Amino acid sequence: MPRLANILVEGISVGGLETFIDCPEWKLGFDIGRCPDVAVNRPTILFTHAHMDHMGGVAWHAATRHLRRVGAPTYVVPRENEVAFRELFEVWRRLDKSELAHRLVPLGPGDEFELPCKLLARPFRAYHRVPCQGYGIWSRRRKLRPEHLGKSDEQIRALREREGEDAFETLEIPELAFTGDTLIEVVERTEVVRKARVLVMEVTFLDELVSVQQCREKGHIHLDEVLERADLFENEALLFTHFSTRYSPERVLEILERRLPPSLRERVTALLPQH
Ligand SMILES: [Zn+2]
Repeated sequence: MPRLANILVEGISVGGLETFIDCPEWKLGFDIGRCPDVAVNRPTILFTHAHMDHMGGVAWHAATRHLRRVGAPTYVVPRENEVAFRELFEVWRRLDKSELAHRLVPLGPGDEFELPCKLLARPFRAYHRVPCQGYGIWSRRRKLRPEHLGKSDEQIRALREREGEDAFETLEIPELAFTGDTLIEVVERTEVVRKARVLVMEVTFLDELVSVQQCREKGHIHLDEVLERADLFENEALLFTHFSTRYSPERVLEILERRLPPSLRERVTALLPQH
């Protein structure tokens, strides 16, 4: 998998089967699918929603991390899922007679969570058949305020010591957004989806095989809807995921090549099963 806007994004995502989006450099996963082996190495998982193909492998993940002695994981889940998620683990503890240690962090739109890699995760509302949220990931950089550009280190230190003024400001850069499963409205309603350097977005159906209407009823994005909004995407790179099993990998590439306007084609990568 090539880097996208200099960020390594990998994983597996097939509509209805399994979704795990992997950011190895950040030691971070989005959703866990059936917990492919590589996911065991990720200590932090941000869950978008509780459909089986996104969350099914979670108990196995906790158990296997314990077995391999690589530390208890952190699970960020939508607030709507908190109670049932706790119950799920209670039941598994009774069945498995083990601790299944993990840290649970319920989070919702408006909240933020600092990841161990120091990036900030902020959930945003997504629109699916069950409660769902996407995540924006921000980095922060300390930067000299424009009025102090050109000053020496000594002058800047003097400013702080004498006048208590911090010559630096903190800039937030939206590095990546992951939509989870959602209707297309998330694009209009959520700035970070349009502006993140890398956008990871589900596009489940790609042509007339399934109509836009049928696609919307399932709570997913159709390529027709993406094309209508082609001008909204300011991202450096887009990773399309979650294609229906009705399309072979070859067919996905053929359709994208044929249907995407050049402005998108040069920025879009398809996340396809590895052969
Ligand atoms: Zn779903």
